[in-house]
Amino acid sequence: MKDKEIQNLIKAEKRRQETAVDLIASENFVSNDVLEALGSVFTNKYAEGYPGARYYGGNAVVDDLERLAGKRALKLYRLDPKKWSVNVQPYSGSPANLAVLHALVPVGGKVMGMDLNMGGHLTHGYRASVTGKLWRQAPYGVDKKTECIDYGGLMKIAKKAKPKLIIAGGSAYSRVVDFKKFRKMADTVDALLLIDMSHFAGLVAGGAYPSPFPYADVVMTTTHKTLRGPRAAIIFSRRTAIPHSKLSIPDLIDRSVFPGLQGGPHANAIAAVAVALKEASAPAFKKYAQQVVRNARTLAFELQKRGWRIVSGGTDTHLFLMDTWERGIGGKEASERLEKAGIIVNKNMIPYDTRKPSDPSGIRIGTAAVTTRGLKEKDMRRLAERMDKTLSR
Ligand SMILES: *Cc1c(COP(=O)(O)O)cnc(C)c1O
Repeated sequence: MKDKEIQNLIKAEKRRQETAVDLIASENFVSNDVLEALGSVFTNKYAEGYPGARYYGGNAVVDDLERLAGKRALKLYRLDPKKWSVNVQPYSGSPANLAVLHALVPVGGKVMGMDLNMGGHLTHGYRASVTGKLWRQAPYGVDKKTECIDYGGLMKIAKKAKPKLIIAGGSAYSRVVDFKKFRKMADTVDALLLIDMSHFAGLVAGGAYPSPFPYADVVMTTTHKTLRGPRAAIIFSRRTAIPHSKLSIPDLIDRSVFPGLQGGPHANAIAAVAVALKEASAPAFKKYAQQVVRNARTLAFELQKRGWRIVSGGTDTHLFLMDTWERGIGGKEASERLEKAGIIVNKNMIPYDTRKPSDPSGIRIGTAAVTTRGLKEKDMRRLAERMDKTLSR
């Protein structure tokens, strides 16, 4: 590379990633093939529109690429193309959620989503996000005692708020989400159901977490978390007709992504997504996904054994929250101390937190990245010991 300044920064970041222990729940390490596709000449091409209907010439190859990526996405989750449509153009998870809301909920309408401070995501209608300014959020959380979703309580919120769209899934919820109960809730109040599987998409692909597809109208996922692809997102939507309209849900979503929200798709990212989708359909990925969950369970258990409180008492996924304030350490200090010991986590609000987001009561811990690096249960035991020593002193 001629640009030595940037080359040095890339080298420095590579070294950092190779030497630190990455426990950030939303991160992973992609394969060299994914990196190669991402750094390919596809980045040079403008391809506004969809395969077979572009606004620029020279798109025969990008058409093949985008069709292949869509086909692989449907195949990975065993979806019938007659029943499900897929859009692989979203730049990332946040614009993808914005596109779904913009497609399905009139501005000013109500969206029921998990509160950010209870484990939800900004883009599920939180007030600081544009999704909370254009739409009104009916927030839901977890039960104070169990720290798990209380479906009876949620049904009450749904009946009272009558949202147009209910969103299931979050960024810091460690338990299996009961999609069937969400479906029942949506049907009861005549709402559509969006399942945001950004965090657990790789676990679903590997059979380590229940599939949301039998229950959802729309499934959104980022591709760079447990799915281990480049930074991008995919929107799956059921081919359901919209009452009193010639349009279907996929029509609305495709129009919302382009030209509603985005311009030219990032063909290089789509190429890298396609590579990751194929990798995720291999038998080795199934093993990977199971190991991710076993590692998270082991790490949570070993920390508990050393006296640390884990929110909801454990995990069914790749992530969990640890209440550090219970032992007098704020989440900010905990994450800084761990970083000095070479362990990277993020500070995180815990349910019913009495502290503030900039210095909350806990940290979020995830095992997707370290499992890619080959760590197993015995390594989790050692890691728990190191974390305990670092935080206890
Ligand atoms: C990460 C995440 C997103 C947003 O993805 P970005 O690529 O960071 O924009 C949306 N929803 C959930 C549940 C997420 O975890």
